[in-house]
Amino acid sequence: MLDMQKHPILHDVQAGREVIWINPKKRDAASGIAAAPVGIDDVLDAEARLARFAPLIAEAFPETKARDGLIESEIVELPAMRERLGADSAGITGRLMLKMDSHLAIAGSVKARGGIYEVLKVTEKLALASGILADTEDDYKKLLSDEARAFFGGKKMQVGSTGNLGMSIGIMSAALGYQAIVHMSADAKQWKKDLLRSRGVTVVEYSGDYGEAVKNGRAQSDLDPNSHFVDDENSRDLFLGYAVAAFRLKKQLDEQEITVDAAHPLFVYLPCGVGGAPGGVCFGLKLVFGDAAHCFFVEPTQAPCMLVGMESGLHSGISVQDIGLTGITEADGLAVGRPSGFIGGVMEPLLSGEMTVEDAKLYDYLRELHESEGIFIEPSACAAFQGVMSLQSSQLKAYIRANHLEGCMENATHIAWATGGSLVPEELRVSFLEKHL
Ligand SMILES: *Cc1c(COP(=O)(O)O)cnc(C)c1O
Repeated sequence: MLDMQKHPILHDVQAGREVIWINPKKRDAASGIAAAPVGIDDVLDAEARLARFAPLIAEAFPETKARDGLIESEIVELPAMRERLGADSAGITGRLMLKMDSHLAIAGSVKARGGIYEVLKVTEKLALASGILADTEDDYKKLLSDEARAFFGGKKMQVGSTGNLGMSIGIMSAALGYQAIVHMSADAKQWKKDLLRSRGVTVVEYSGDYGEAVKNGRAQSDLDPNSHFVDDENSRDLFLGYAVAAFRLKKQLDEQEITVDAAHPLFVYLPCGVGGAPGGVCFGLKLVFGDAAHCFFVEPTQAPCMLVGMESGLHSGISVQDIGLTGITEADGLAVGRPSGFIGGVMEPLLSGEMTVEDAKLYDYLRELHESEGIFIEPSACAAFQGVMSLQSSQLKAYIRANHLEGCMENATHIAWATGGSLVPEELRVSFLEKHL
């Protein structure tokens, strides 16, 4: 059981107030990575697999042709947003950038990394075992043949989701011919269900939250030997797909001649739901940049599941409902009550900290980004800007001192990781832009 006396910050969390939490268990990157059940070879293997599938992706999804079938996003600097946020007067120094996973091809969210990777991993294994592919040097475009599609039509791909993971798994697996089944929680938006159904995906709706959708989906899939369940709470493959992002980011920063090292720290702010996407990206960043990367997760005040799991040390053994929060938030991608235990364990020595954000502020950030830079991202993704603004807090100042970074914050690069948004329909965009809570 949880002894609240030992965790004073949880009183504020419980009261629904915004908090900033610095991880007391963070260690040096090398020892944190060594403690993880996966390592650099696994991430390199995932990167190589995505490269093998790239010709197929380019063929099946023409919008990826410009990048030769690699699903990757731009990183852009945000000078006008930086000014709009009042960074200078808040004493926030360094460059502000946006990693636009909001605009990733096929799924319009960060889930295009992990979700699509897992579908491809399963597909490769099935294709090699059945002889559709002779070996990993074979032409992967064969997987789009009628014969291959008929084969995958006898297999099911299932997932439980608040929306975006379902979109990436559903769209990709339906494109390969699988029977795709997405178990959606009550907070999933209607337009996402409609879009999936239009692609031939079966959508099963639940009146409960994300946890219930996952539990039911997993149980149904487990009964069927021809079904694969993408398990957002425990999947290593999802994690590895997300982690590949860091190798790609390194190339992009190099191209823009942006240095990351001890004297040029990289601060990254990642919206967090169950933890897989931000956890995988953070793991990759620690592999690539080591101690020069400082990763922070951001969660809604009513659904700070990872923060509660980390601070209590109970990880998936506690939910936000256990401490009296609702788990309900406008940030549908972050509406998760119980964190992934796998991610909590991997992140414990690597994560710098977390902050929480009130829903009302998500819409402020959404408008400010749109007005200043002309970029639209969904409310969940806007949580990243709470991380940036937290730099002016006493907690972050203490973190910077403790890490001996006071002298180099002028050289810092801050990345707000925009996790989703490009598929949001026009009428919803308009209503989000007008929304004030
Ligand atoms: C899924 C999602 C996240 C968080 O990813 P998790 O793996 O659930 O932690 C953040 N933002 C958006 C838009 C998402 O769809």
